[in-house]
Amino acid sequence: MKEQKVSAKNKAALFLVATPIGNLSEFSPRAVSVLKEVDVLACEDTRNTLKLLSHFDIHTRMITYHNFNEESSTKGIMNLLEEGKSVALVSDAGYPLISDPGYELVSEVIKGGYDIITVSGPNAALNALVASGLKTSHYLFFGFLNSRQSQARKELEELKEFPYTLIFYEAPHRILKTLKLCHEVLGDRKAVIARELTKLHEEYIRGTLSELLKLEEVKGEIVLLIEGREEVKTKTDLEELKKEVDALVKKGYKTKEAISEVAAAHGISKNHLYDHYHKK
Ligand code: SAM
Repeated sequence: MKEQKVSAKNKAALFLVATPIGNLSEFSPRAVSVLKEVDVLACEDTRNTLKLLSHFDIHTRMITYHNFNEESSTKGIMNLLEEGKSVALVSDAGYPLISDPGYELVSEVIKGGYDIITVSGPNAALNALVASGLKTSHYLFFGFLNSRQSQARKELEELKEFPYTLIFYEAPHRILKTLKLCHEVLGDRKAVIARELTKLHEEYIRGTLSELLKLEEVKGEIVLLIEGREEVKTKTDLEELKKEVDALVKKGYKTKEAISEVAAAHGISKNHLYDHYHKK
């Protein structure tokens, strides 16, 4: 076990700084001062980050850290920490590491025994979730589905039984295909498209997957949220369903088939009903 007591005084530390997802005024004073004070700023794309730095009059030295140089750049940043330097990692928007690079770096920094300090800020998934109208008590953030349809289908099959709100990131040119696939695999559920969050054309389109499929085009940056599988039934409900299974068994169904039928009819997981049915 390793314990990390966070202290901003520690020089050799990695700061993970969330950046705006659109509206620059969401960048906090703390984030600005951290970016001004660190020795080096690691970013995905210097041109994008330069816009942020210019707006806030920040002149910190930048280096790149992106998917294509993760390994070499991680080594470089570890060397800087060894020299006692502080480094901040930012991505183009929102939190680094959330559908963005940085995981490998954080793992190495922890192994190296250096501090990691987060500086809070916006995140597209959470902004979208809280305004979606879908359940927020439990949710599953998936990020981008695989760009290959066959792989994306497999991923959705795995998510099908989750009773939690599902959150996806998606590109505008793929959203209609993704909606179609989600409808095929998950069935017709409530869904929300949250687009251009914190920007001028921020919009929420709430409906069911079949309704959203009627859209001809969705532009801009998009978060897609889909309601989870209907909450698993309460014990009393399950007792009722058990009786329905028994009735089918009396009609000549095999128990397993009867359980599948009843589970499908009520939109619940057959494994859940199976477990309950065989529990004495
Ligand atoms: N790291 C970011 C975060 O914490 O939200 C996500 C980066 S990921 C590479 C980019 C995706 O996030 C976009 O394709 C879109 O799905 C979502 N996204 C980012 N900004 C958004 C915004 N303003 N409105 C809606 N979705 C956004």
